[in-house]
Amino acid sequence: MNVKLLRVTENGTNLVAEAARISGVSSIQTAKGIIELITDNDYSSALEHIHFTFDISAISVALSRELLEHRIASHTARSTRYMEEKGFSYYVPRELEEREGGEGEGVRIYKEAMARAGEAYTKLRELGVAREQARYVLPMALHTHYVVTMNVRSLINFFMLRLCVRASPEIRELAMRMYKVCMDEYPDIFSRIWCRGFTLGVCPENEVRPPQCPFKKLVPKKREIKSQFEEQAQRIIEEDLKKWTKK
Ligand SMILES: Cc1cc2nc3c(=O)[nH]c(=O)nc-3n(C[C@H](O)[C@H](O)[C@H](O)COP(=O)(O)OP(=O)(O)OC[C@H]3O[C@@H](n4cnc5c(N)ncnc54)[C@H](O)[C@@H]3O)c2cc1C
Repeated sequence: MNVKLLRVTENGTNLVAEAARISGVSSIQTAKGIIELITDNDYSSALEHIHFTFDISAISVALSRELLEHRIASHTARSTRYMEEKGFSYYVPRELEEREGGEGEGVRIYKEAMARAGEAYTKLRELGVAREQARYVLPMALHTHYVVTMNVRSLINFFMLRLCVRASPEIRELAMRMYKVCMDEYPDIFSRIWCRGFTLGVCPENEVRPPQCPFKKLVPKKREIKSQFEEQAQRIIEEDLKKWTKK
């Protein structure tokens, strides 16, 4: 997997601070102070003025589908309709290789399946079958190439979801690589961000948080925290509703 920064908004800290001051944030606050306030308190719309464009290569088609689920972004992917895929390269899950020391039965079956798909694709192409028809025999592991542009607010959402240990390993690795780039560019923002548990201070994954979560002992479950005040809060909500909805 390769992740390269193609473009990033320059001097974004001042740009965000200028935008935030228009909305009423104190003019004596420093740009760094404003960035911290906006990030911590989630007044995030001003962060949308900063954009990152990434060139991402040697990722699987399966990962590209997961990436595409992030709708607040601009996506461009390599086309299997217009590009030739003879002799394609493909993703091999690290966990599959590690499980069997790279030589096991699982890896052998996996690689044979790739070879068979490659043969079928090549034969179809040699028969004169169009790429747009032949491509349906290509596997989800096929390497693809991607360009994605995301603003910082959307990147924060992406990192909160995809740096979580529950995210699938390939997209988690991508998130790690993108996060490193973002940290190099805007550490004042991104040092405050990681998975949802770290960023929010409570983990919404509740019971499905797996044993390998590194924050399991540090970050409480959302349900745990909520149960401490929920009954009392429900009564407040009922009273408020009654007050505001009576004729
Ligand atoms: C651990 C994990 C497991 C997952 N499992 C599955 C799965 O089994 N099946 C599956 O289909 N997906 C799955 N997903 C993908 C997930 O449901 C989201 O589609 C994906 O993470 C994109 O997140 P998003 O919608 O917040 O991002 P974006 O699409 O970038 O949206 C950002 C934010 O904008 C708002 N928004 C965007 N579009 C709308 C809209 N139409 N209406 C209202 N608000 C909107 C929301 O607040 C949203 O959080 C999984 C994700 C994770 C992290």
